Amino acid sequence: MISTMFLVAVLLAFGQISLAVDTEPSCPTNSPTIRSGKLPQFVVLTFDDAVNNELWEAIYTDIFDDLTDPFTRCDLKATFFISHNNTNYAKVNQLFHDGHEIALHSYSHGGDRQDSESLVRKFRMGRWALEIQQNINALIEHALLPKETYFGWRSPFLFTTGDESFTALNASNILYDSSLSFYEKSWPYPLINDKKSSSCLIKPCPSQDYLLMEAPLSVWTGIDNEVCAMMDACKYGSTREEAYEVMMANFRRFHEENVPMPISLHGGALINGNNGHFREAFIDFLRTLLGMRDVHFVTMRQLVEFSRNPKNTFQFMREARRACVTFRPKESCQPKRPACEFKNTDGENSVYLHTCAKRCPSQRLEIAFDYFGKSCCEA
Ligand SMILES: [Zn+2]
Repeated sequence: MISTMFLVAVLLAFGQISLAVDTEPSCPTNSPTIRSGKLPQFVVLTFDDAVNNELWEAIYTDIFDDLTDPFTRCDLKATFFISHNNTNYAKVNQLFHDGHEIALHSYSHGGDRQDSESLVRKFRMGRWALEIQQNINALIEHALLPKETYFGWRSPFLFTTGDESFTALNASNILYDSSLSFYEKSWPYPLINDKKSSSCLIKPCPSQDYLLMEAPLSVWTGIDNEVCAMMDACKYGSTREEAYEVMMANFRRFHEENVPMPISLHGGALINGNNGHFREAFIDFLRTLLGMRDVHFVTMRQLVEFSRNPKNTFQFMREARRACVTFRPKESCQPKRPACEFKNTDGENSVYLHTCAKRCPSQRLEIAFDYFGKSCCEA
């Protein structure tokens, strides 16, 4: 059995890209226009990678059982960008059932290997299309998400391959991409007549027109003044108070400009251990934001939809109170027990698939993909 600590270490490594450059002055872009009043101050909490049992028990139940916006009376909702490996789809079904957004993060995430980052950089258009489609298929088959869902997407490691990967997203009817990062703070924007994306921080950037929206990651700044696109890649000092203050300083920069703040991280960053002060500060931070009258947590999909049809704070609040419903899948999950078991490629260790499907797949798709071998990147 693969050790859980190893899995956490792998998950923590995914997508953590610290952009080791000094912060530059920024001005907000792409602000929606409204006739009167003020735009709400939005915050978007997102988690990347697998939703596994350990994260479920150690973090997600803790955060989401407990935290509510006292002004809209909505429970805290997040967006989960999910990759397949180690994901427990019965838990994904539960998250969806509870009103969280389920989004895509590729099927293989480059595979279980040391050089998965460099493999993702070599994906061609056909491979991207396959990753997107298998990611969608798995969520529909194993988590019973509705077939007609239009998903959002975030690339593994925030690596796109520019126009090749965006062409695949466009052809797959993806609603929005959330992989591009920028120094300046930004609202979501359409990728048509788009002059902004060519200055994205992680190259290559897309340069052509696409039908989907971009919901970008505006960078955070750590205690050492270095910036990061995933907030858990920044440094927060060694105490709860220090970490909390760094988080609040970041929030104030978004609040001053009234631009949505992404809080994008990996659940593994919140698992207690040496990093316990980060988790405590993080929960304090969420509580503080929830206690602010003009601050509202939305999912990435809600933010994208809002930016197409903006409202002032008063209108938003009135509708948000009414819209605090949970979404229910057509068919509730009866987790298959025991979980489906597959021999790993070494033939010795087993891996498990927790699914709501009535039958186990005949084999693990990633083995059929052969992503452990060289054919992975030539599709
Ligand atoms: Zn990832």
